[in-house]
Amino acid sequence: MAERSCGQCTMCCKVLGIVELEKPGGRWCPHCAVGRGCTIYETRPGECRTFHCLWLLRETFGPEWRPDRAKFVMYGSADKAAMVVNVDPTAPDAWRRKPFYENFKRWSAEANADRTHLIVMVGDEATVILPDRDVPLGRVGEGDRIVSRRVVVNGRERIEPRVERAAGLS
Ligand code: SF4
Ligand code: SF4
Repeated sequence: MAERSCGQCTMCCKVLGIVELEKPGGRWCPHCAVGRGCTIYETRPGECRTFHCLWLLRETFGPEWRPDRAKFVMYGSADKAAMVVNVDPTAPDAWRRKPFYENFKRWSAEANADRTHLIVMVGDEATVILPDRDVPLGRVGEGDRIVSRRVVVNGRERIEPRVERAAGLS
């Protein structure tokens, strides 16, 4: 259950794709009154009803993390294998700003320990944040999965993420 209210934020109505509406990610939903809310609130799709971003769920995030201010929406992936930072395409570098980037770096170490990923999406372009580097993976489409393997280079473990395509090609 969400502890906060969205207030004037409507950012998920832009960055998320809504299958039921055939709305692509990164574009405003035609039913969104930007900064005010949903104009079809009573009949909005189930995807919208069940979505709660992490800012809404965790009161530890300060006001600067509210998605309309931060210009990205954070949430767990459906398969629970990743935390996603879905960025407003009109502010593609928003996730690199203070205080966000240093927190993402810290969380990436925790994600790696749990064998999950911290993924930045700008449109359908994915970047995996790792403690030692950021890895751009290019386009990740519907059904594609981001997987990692651990390799040892010069005696040090290194994480190598890649896209496993829905068709089984990599
Ligand atoms: S991004 Fe989060 S805070 Fe903003 S409207 Fe969506 S659920 Fe509410
Ligand atoms: S239907 Fe309403 S809640 Fe769902 S994306 Fe559109 S404006 Fe947002």
